Amino acid sequence: MKGPGDPVPASCDVLIAGGGMVGASLAVALARLSLRVTLVEAIPAGSPGQQSFDARTTALSRSSQHILGTLGIWPQIAEHAAPIRRIHVSERGRLGTTVIDADEEGGEALGYVVENRLLGAALWRDLGAHSNVTVLTPARAASAAGAPDGLDVHIDQAGLAATVRTRLLVVADGARSTLRDALGIAARTRPYEQTAIVGNVAVDGPVAGLVAGQGTTAYERFTPDGPLALLPAGEGRYVFVLTRRAALAEAVSALPDPAFLELLQREFGFRLGRFRKVGARSCYPLELVEAEAVTGHRVAVVGNAAHGLHPVAGQGYNLGLRDAAALAELLAEDSRQAGAQPDPGAAALLERYATWRRPDQRKVVAFTDGLVRLFDQTSLGPLRGLGLLLFDTVPGAKRLLARETMGLAGRRTRLARGLPL
Ligand SMILES: Cc1cc2nc3c(=O)[nH]c(=O)nc-3n(C[C@H](O)[C@H](O)[C@H](O)COP(=O)(O)OP(=O)(O)OC[C@H]3O[C@@H](n4cnc5c(N)ncnc54)[C@H](O)[C@@H]3O)c2cc1C
Repeated sequence: MKGPGDPVPASCDVLIAGGGMVGASLAVALARLSLRVTLVEAIPAGSPGQQSFDARTTALSRSSQHILGTLGIWPQIAEHAAPIRRIHVSERGRLGTTVIDADEEGGEALGYVVENRLLGAALWRDLGAHSNVTVLTPARAASAAGAPDGLDVHIDQAGLAATVRTRLLVVADGARSTLRDALGIAARTRPYEQTAIVGNVAVDGPVAGLVAGQGTTAYERFTPDGPLALLPAGEGRYVFVLTRRAALAEAVSALPDPAFLELLQREFGFRLGRFRKVGARSCYPLELVEAEAVTGHRVAVVGNAAHGLHPVAGQGYNLGLRDAAALAELLAEDSRQAGAQPDPGAAALLERYATWRRPDQRKVVAFTDGLVRLFDQTSLGPLRGLGLLLFDTVPGAKRLLARETMGLAGRRTRLARGLPL
């Protein structure tokens, strides 16, 4: 069994900087290839400061579930995952709702709600079982410099400096990536001036029981102060993601439980009956981050380091996992090439990665940002007022929303199609 105490290797084929949701998923995929992989993570999984695998939950798209299934991770978390069979979208103070139903989309669940902590534990357990993966944590990838046939990545491990020569460096250190900056890859950042308040709420049992399909419906409600999502978490519980103006969020989050429940009830209405009990709340400031390039010399950028999104549509990890699955597929193809010497950092391979991933990334960034703007009460643009009407009346809009939500739009990876790398 390998683990955090691994000695620093002199060299490797792929060094992944950041072992959060996306970096760890990529490492799990690459562990199945004959590549020497080094994963560098600043905060060990399971320790209190590890935000990627904290008490939050993630709505996994159908495509993400397939990818994790092909990698053998899904069976380890399936028992604890809550299926989403319906997504109900509404706007406070306006008539009209839009419902996306699994029955109209092939029957399989639209997605699943999983606890980040459980997903993280499954990913990291898997990494421990592969001798071709070296895990360095706690350790930071600080910078990189050109070297013959590779990059020298400078690592800070408990105050001690080390250097690992890698043929490909994958930047997966999150939206506020310092490594991306150190490599000179510019990013566009736009704060939303909004904060997500996340927690659990229990709904009144008897009333909730009368609502058909209640336990498997996810709700997205646009309110004058920002969107509110409720994701089913099983046993009459929901995870809420309540967005508030940044200046007010801490105070709202710190409201005594009865006042917070009242606020949630006012924003959501009584569609699920009465909210009964609310758990601890955590705050996440929201911003849009978009890297201007997702490749550099022997560098690939994945996950939030490439695109940090508003959580309104629950797309961040799903999009990042598609980055990871695509990059893993290209690396697998490269390592199989007969006659040629594989080079995971080759410019042509990275070009294929950018060409494949850029359209999906741009579309999801625009789609997510567009949703936030469309329902922003402060926006006076011509679309304001159309709101949900758009989804039900513009041909294809609802279908597009469904395809994006399930992660089924565009070219799909082998892993998403259930095929091994
Ligand atoms: C409130 C909220 C709800 C969300 N809900 C959903 C959802 O339902 N569905 C969905 O798909 N997405 C959702 N997301 C988005 C999702 O959480 C992110 O997209 C995802 O966590 C990104 O993973 P990542 O690995 O790219 O980045 P991160 O999670 O930021 O991980 C980066 C990792 O890099 C490490 N690190 C940082 N610097 C260094 C360094 N120099 N060297 C080494 N390691 C380093 C960090 O410790 C961290 O572990 C949500 C986000 C929020 C805020």
